Amino acid sequence: MKNKLQQSDSGNQLRPVILLLAIAVILPTVCLLWFMVQAAGNESLALRQKMVNNYEERLKASVNEKLSDDEINRHIALVMSDGFIVFDGDGRLTFPVDDETDPLKSESVFEQAFELEYAEKDLEKAITEYLRIAKDTVSKDIAIKANISNIRCLRQLDRNGEAINQAESIVSQYEDSSKYIRSQKCHAYLLLMELCKDRDKEQYNKILSDAFDHFTQGMYHNDDMAFLGRKSHVGLYIPSSLQLLALNRFIEYAGERQDDPAIAKKYKYATYLSSQVDTSLQLALEYSGPDFAKPGIINSSVFRLKGNEPYYGIYRVISGYTYLKIYSKEHVASWFNELVEEIEDEMVYCRIYDDKGELIAGTAPVYIGKEVVFGQKFSTLELDGYMAGWKAEMYFYAGTFSDAAKRQRIIYFVTAGIIVLLIGAASTMATKSIMHQAAVNRLKNDFVATVTHELKTPLASMRVLVDTLLEGNYNDQQQAKEYLELIAKENKRLTGLIDNFLTFSRMERNKQAFEMVPASAKAIALAAAEAVKTKFNGGICKFTVTIDDDLASISADTDAMVTVLVNLLDNAYKYSGDEKEIELAVYDKNGQMCFAVKDNGIGMSNRAMKKIFERFYQVDSRLSRDAEGCGLGLSIVKFIVDAHDGTIEVDSETGKGSVFVVKIPTQTKG
Ligand code: ADP
Repeated sequence: MKNKLQQSDSGNQLRPVILLLAIAVILPTVCLLWFMVQAAGNESLALRQKMVNNYEERLKASVNEKLSDDEINRHIALVMSDGFIVFDGDGRLTFPVDDETDPLKSESVFEQAFELEYAEKDLEKAITEYLRIAKDTVSKDIAIKANISNIRCLRQLDRNGEAINQAESIVSQYEDSSKYIRSQKCHAYLLLMELCKDRDKEQYNKILSDAFDHFTQGMYHNDDMAFLGRKSHVGLYIPSSLQLLALNRFIEYAGERQDDPAIAKKYKYATYLSSQVDTSLQLALEYSGPDFAKPGIINSSVFRLKGNEPYYGIYRVISGYTYLKIYSKEHVASWFNELVEEIEDEMVYCRIYDDKGELIAGTAPVYIGKEVVFGQKFSTLELDGYMAGWKAEMYFYAGTFSDAAKRQRIIYFVTAGIIVLLIGAASTMATKSIMHQAAVNRLKNDFVATVTHELKTPLASMRVLVDTLLEGNYNDQQQAKEYLELIAKENKRLTGLIDNFLTFSRMERNKQAFEMVPASAKAIALAAAEAVKTKFNGGICKFTVTIDDDLASISADTDAMVTVLVNLLDNAYKYSGDEKEIELAVYDKNGQMCFAVKDNGIGMSNRAMKKIFERFYQVDSRLSRDAEGCGLGLSIVKFIVDAHDGTIEVDSETGKGSVFVVKIPTQTKG
């Protein structure tokens, strides 16, 4: 009862300590976690800002570099334009060249011939008339027109051979001395390309080749500044729509003859030039004067041109001529792709939009319905300084940024986790140590209480006896002697108790040094039997000692081992009823020296068996119990047996008795 009280008392005392400890652990842990969460949040914000700044700087630097005048000029020089429009110093359109109505259409010299050809449909006579005109005239323009008209009539009469001859003589006879002659020669070549297809390959390829050269004469088609080459030919141009027609025909005929490398090359140029002239013609409808040129700006940056298709222009003023160079979206995009490629990486992508919001370069957005499914825009840079109304946008890939932040957070939480674990481990250790300290304190208290009680009983009985003797309350000498013997007995018991306490206390301080020497189990057993003999003989006790012969020797501290056996025998005596039967047996089994102490006493429950080796444990813990002792005997036994690398086992049954077997490893037989 008292023990329990003491335990719950100390439990109460521990409670505030454990509470404090818990606060000391939980509070910093919670604070730490809170700080970590805050830090992680701040860190991810800071990280984002850092990245944003970084990319913005990169974009600005790239824009400065890639969109500089030099760089754009480099592009203009390297990339052939997709079309061009040229105005002279007076703002007149110089290229593409308008189709003019035939200036010789109403020339009086042709009146009669036209009458014959168109009104009278007398082609034979018309031919004679055309040949006459050609022969008589001094004007090359009139001569060539007459010859071409002659060919027209021959064709209508299906006189193709003559028509071809005529056409061949036209292209070889006439020099390109006028715009008109060039145009008429164009018609002659068109005719030759059409009518000579049956000629052998070489001859026909030559016709094709010559035709191409004529169609493109004056265009430096291996240089983007093709139109510049026209300057010296001003006035000699083939009208652009005729040129386009001629080039397209060439493409048609040459397309089947690309096995000839020279033709293949010209075919490629023709394809490019045809599209260039076509685009130029389209855009020229929108720009009939150089109204795109901004006052005060000589050379412009890229700007979006009018019209349905996304074409971009850039103009340059060279030698008084204003050149509007036209680029398709793909071409412009290729310039900007260089810029975009410098910015984009696995985390960020970039988009360049023109002033009409058309995506020029960069990763196209992916839509589901109207929602953009990936990416988060974090920056927009107006490119006004370079391209009015243009802008560059930068996006984080969805998840990329949050992944980086997540990684950072994981690092934080793992660190926090480790710290919390360490705090937890440290506090567990601290708690354990405090608990241990508390247990030791409790033990000390118990010890003092038990010691006091155990000492009080023999002291009290000794005092009664001494008082009786002093007061002379005894009948005779014999009685006085009996009293003195009782005093001596109590004294001895007291000494025994104190010995036990001292042994225990020494053991507690771990100062018990055992002297291990080869020892004889028999001698130990006999010494123990001798020690208890007087006591056992005094009561009604049947005590048998059985020692096997030829026992191996053990390494042991003899005195300590005697103490072990005496304690066990003492217990057997104490916890047995009136008809005590105690047996001490020593035998050698499986390399173990066994000391068995058996009694027919009160025995004990299984639960008790597990606890009896604990310090101060007593099955009957009432202070009023009969048996003397303080619950240390078996602790001492266990301590000594452990020190001998041995074991102690107990087998007991309530009311029937107990057997304690101490096993010590044997050495050699001796
Ligand atoms: P004590 O000084 O109380 O004898 P011990 O440590 O020697 O202390 O024994 C602890 C308890 O084990 C005893 O209080 C007793 O209840 C029980 N005990 C020990 N030996 C025996 C035995 N031979 N028979 C029954 N109970 C025993």
